[in-house]
Amino acid sequence: SDSKAVVLVPGKIHPRVLERFEGKVEVIKAPAGPEPSLSADDAQRITAVAVSGGFNARWMDALPNLEVIANFGVGYDGVDVKHAASRGIIVSNTPDVLNDEVADTTIALLINTVRRLYEAEKHLRDGKWLSEGPFALSPFSLRGRKVGLFGMGRIGQEIAKRLEPFKVEIGYHTRSRKSELSYTYYGSLKEMAEAVDVLICIVPGTPATHKAINADILAALGSNGVFINVGRGSSVDEDALLTALQDGTLGAAGLDVFYEEPKVPEGFLSLPNVTLLPHVASASVPTRNAMADLVADNVLGWLSERKVVTPVAETPVKG
Ligand code: NDP
Repeated sequence: SDSKAVVLVPGKIHPRVLERFEGKVEVIKAPAGPEPSLSADDAQRITAVAVSGGFNARWMDALPNLEVIANFGVGYDGVDVKHAASRGIIVSNTPDVLNDEVADTTIALLINTVRRLYEAEKHLRDGKWLSEGPFALSPFSLRGRKVGLFGMGRIGQEIAKRLEPFKVEIGYHTRSRKSELSYTYYGSLKEMAEAVDVLICIVPGTPATHKAINADILAALGSNGVFINVGRGSSVDEDALLTALQDGTLGAAGLDVFYEEPKVPEGFLSLPNVTLLPHVASASVPTRNAMADLVADNVLGWLSERKVVTPVAETPVKG
């Protein structure tokens, strides 16, 4: 009906978000992309956006009455939060509900990378166990390693907790020391990369973390070093990573995220010392359902009570 609030959904979103909107709001769908494509009338009526992916300033400026952008995902690097804040538009994300899933996946990715389990399973599936004999011993082991987390927030702390029973030493680098944590703190990423032999990236994609993992950091990690990325691909200089893996400057890498998803640099595909996942760290049915519910709760909470559940730090919270 005319009295229902109008919510824009650009591109695809988890179907549960749309189910939760049914009967409560009017949904307008539009093709995703860098340029908004909407009728002037629709653009006037839209007050909320539910989006999985990106939402830039041009989209925001096409919507004169926009109040809230609910991002599907805890990482909101695709949303121009500065521009939203300058217009008084609230941005929300989906923190916490995915911490355990992402931390579980990170441990799996780490062990797969170190022990080459994908290659081992492929050996079996290809019939080579029978025809050629046992799979080659993995050159690396998790035994005796020091792990450094680049990022020690909601997810980083869950990863660290899971690492404790693995009997590895644990340290981290963040801009500010977390005094409540007993893990070793490193004041710089370089210092940490020199001290550890596993580096796990779980920082947000921001200008400050852009290509922070560069040739220098990878060389500091060393030929026995393992790099795991479950944060954002933008935090890595992928050319430097590929070169380091090819020439043995770095031992191995496990990657869930890439610089220009879904494009993965061809060179990675033929390397034995890299494990590649298509951005699946939170991608289970239960966890994605919880994320979808939080997106819907943020939009509906704002529209009914002027209250978003999980606004991002940069956002002005009105009401
Ligand atoms: P939090 O905001 O809780 O934690 C972020 C951590 O990064 C904090 O410890 C923060 O500490 C640190 N940090 C931020 N900027 C810098 C910097 N410039 N230098 C050093 N440390 C920095 O976020 P979450 O743990 O909830 O999520 C982290 C990120 O993981 C998300 O933003 C998202 O991009 C990614 N992610 C990826 C997923 C996947 O599918 N692969 C799934 C979920 C999340 P301090 O402020 O002290 O520097």
